[in-house]
Amino acid sequence: MARAELMDFDQALELFEPVIGLEVHVELNTTTKMFSSAPNPANSEFHGAEPNTLVSPVCLGLPGSLPVVNGDAVRKSISLGLALGCSIAPSSRFARKNYFYPDLAKNYQISQYDEPIAFDGELEVEIEGGKTFMIPIERAHMEEDAGKLTHVGGATGRIQGAEYSLVDYNRAGVPLVEIVTRPIFGAEADAPALAKAYVATIRDIALALGISEARMERGNLRCDANVSLRPRGHEKLGTRTETKNVNSFRSIERAVRYEIQRQAAILANGGTITQETRHWHEDTGATSAGRPKSDADDYRYFPEPDLVPVVPSAELIDELRAALPEPPAARRRRLKGEWGFTDLEFQDVANSGLLNEVAETVAAGASPASARKWWTGELTRLANASERDVAELATPAQVAELAALVDAGTLTDRLARQVLEGVVAGEGSPQEIVDARGLAVVSDDGALIAAIDQALASQPDVLAKIRDGKVQAAGAVIGAVMKAMQGKADAARVRELVLERAAAVQ
Ligand code: ADP
Ligand code: MG
Repeated sequence: MARAELMDFDQALELFEPVIGLEVHVELNTTTKMFSSAPNPANSEFHGAEPNTLVSPVCLGLPGSLPVVNGDAVRKSISLGLALGCSIAPSSRFARKNYFYPDLAKNYQISQYDEPIAFDGELEVEIEGGKTFMIPIERAHMEEDAGKLTHVGGATGRIQGAEYSLVDYNRAGVPLVEIVTRPIFGAEADAPALAKAYVATIRDIALALGISEARMERGNLRCDANVSLRPRGHEKLGTRTETKNVNSFRSIERAVRYEIQRQAAILANGGTITQETRHWHEDTGATSAGRPKSDADDYRYFPEPDLVPVVPSAELIDELRAALPEPPAARRRRLKGEWGFTDLEFQDVANSGLLNEVAETVAAGASPASARKWWTGELTRLANASERDVAELATPAQVAELAALVDAGTLTDRLARQVLEGVVAGEGSPQEIVDARGLAVVSDDGALIAAIDQALASQPDVLAKIRDGKVQAAGAVIGAVMKAMQGKADAARVRELVLERAAAVQ
């Protein structure tokens, strides 16, 4: 696909002020769907089920079927609204959003329109480097997801050029909360990074509340990024584009940056921006035009006649408010201070999405430095090599146990990496693997001395050099001893003993 003409990012910012608006869909992890008792594929227990096996008459829109609101989804939506600093509506109601598409069997989506469950919030978001922004939240409303179409036979996976399409209704009726920001001003050159950090903060909140699996690659968390530019000094907002369903944190940042550069080039050449949706292409790092979009898209919204209003009691709201976790930005500041990390070290953990794992590993007794090292180092490497999720490879308790064995001198780093491979392979706890594989460091000086004496005897020239004070020569003997010990010795201790023995032997 041809890349549009782009303006240099810094130059674009000299001429224009970027304004962004973010719409984030969060799939709730309730056991059942939003309006029926069908199992919810956004709950890990049912993830990956065969197509069209998690369905009920309600998700299929069969005649005579009636929706019933999922109470757990309502509670989770309220918790999310509260965590976003929103007011909770004493009464809110569902509305029908009417449109035809094959993944929507009823020909309308049940959503909320003029009476969302949560509104007028504010969320503090910290970007890389520590700068913070207050993001104004317009609303967070409940709705149901649509099914999923797969277009088969074409080159792109899109409907154009496909031979036929398949529909899977498992996702139809999955509970969603859509969070909509007000236009965000003043982010300037940080707008792309802020868009990414905002979605990451929502993920952190969802995970801390336990209301969603919040995995972007599974579509549990989806972001549409609205971007417009206005010439410096102008009051009136520019025309926005809405880039849809960007499915990784990094792509959100790239997509916003790309749109700023693309729109700037058009505007600077006297052109106009078309209000439209755009698709993000991960491979080319570009967006392409989707469908035109007006502010007056007519969905013929009307109140859902099959559902009563949602009227949460004040007691329920108080109870959910009291159970809110520490806000993510405050938690990051606290952890960074407690761990004594530099900005870079902290970003290393936060950006890898392993903040919770590292925090739990520290809580299980490991030092922050070793927790960071094992999670962002060896475990991340093993995860990349096996294309698995890092968090699924080991538990924080196992990593803490491993770090303790290294601290106690039972394992060298090299041996610890072997033990970790055993942990990842499911061979048991670190101590069990040390015992079963015989991996502990040889701390018995007797065994080391025997190996050292043998190595010195077989390398008399090296022995002579060491005795002459050329201690660098000891390296050859240390190497031979480490080899004889199959790496299971502490090199510093071996060095000490080599020098001692070289002086002592006849
Ligand atoms: P839609 O139905 O098009 O999805 P929404 O109201 O759900 O509309 O979301 C529109 C998003 O775009 C909101 O986050 C809003 O703040 C943002 N937005 C509106 N106007 C602009 C603009 N001119 N530039 C950037 N963002 C905008
Ligand atoms: Mg919208």
